Amino acid sequence: MIRQVLVRTGKVLPDKSEANKQEAREHLVSGNCLYLTPGLYVRLDNLVREHAGMFLEVFDLDERRSGVLEPMDWANCSPAGSDRYRRSSEKVSAEITAIEIANKIPLDEIRSARRLELDLVRDIPLELFYEWLVWHEIHHSVHDDPVVAAGLDNCVHPEIKSAGDRIKIMQAMELEADRASFNRLFPERTLKAATPAGIKKVRSIEPYLVLLHEIRAKRGIKRK
Ligand SMILES: [Zn+2]
Repeated sequence: MIRQVLVRTGKVLPDKSEANKQEAREHLVSGNCLYLTPGLYVRLDNLVREHAGMFLEVFDLDERRSGVLEPMDWANCSPAGSDRYRRSSEKVSAEITAIEIANKIPLDEIRSARRLELDLVRDIPLELFYEWLVWHEIHHSVHDDPVVAAGLDNCVHPEIKSAGDRIKIMQAMELEADRASFNRLFPERTLKAATPAGIKKVRSIEPYLVLLHEIRAKRGIKRK
């Protein structure tokens, strides 16, 4: 599988040019998809470098979904083994620590996505959608959520007693990452589920935020 990497330099210049802003406005949405533009990529890569200490990698959504593996989400922050490197004729594996985002996102998937407290169409303006997505992944990354999640799979957290607990902890991670990313975009606003059933579900998950913080504290992960 070939991944598309648009820019990877040690230092990224801030995106202040009118040309980049114009490009972002003109090419962000086309047909049925929201597209990542080179100018937007530079700005988001800057956020990832500053706040997560890693770089932003772009993958081609069509390529990834045409593979034999299950389709991935629009973004993720799991450290992934890679054998892209070579030492002479030999392939060399290395762990890549990056936040990955898709080069496009189908609009109908945004419309049909279900989040615990967010309505992605109502709450996140389309021109801020990629930024919201990147802040969400930055939150997961700086709190080591992929490692905590892997620990759930391998049953290494004695606090988690059942499959139901495991699901609630994963939902707590999503709830917290959604709140954190929304708060980055709209610090003056507070998220709330839209329906009584949604509010009830969020209330059932909130106690697991405490448990999640305890698991992170044991791993030495500081809350930011
Ligand atoms: Zn997430």
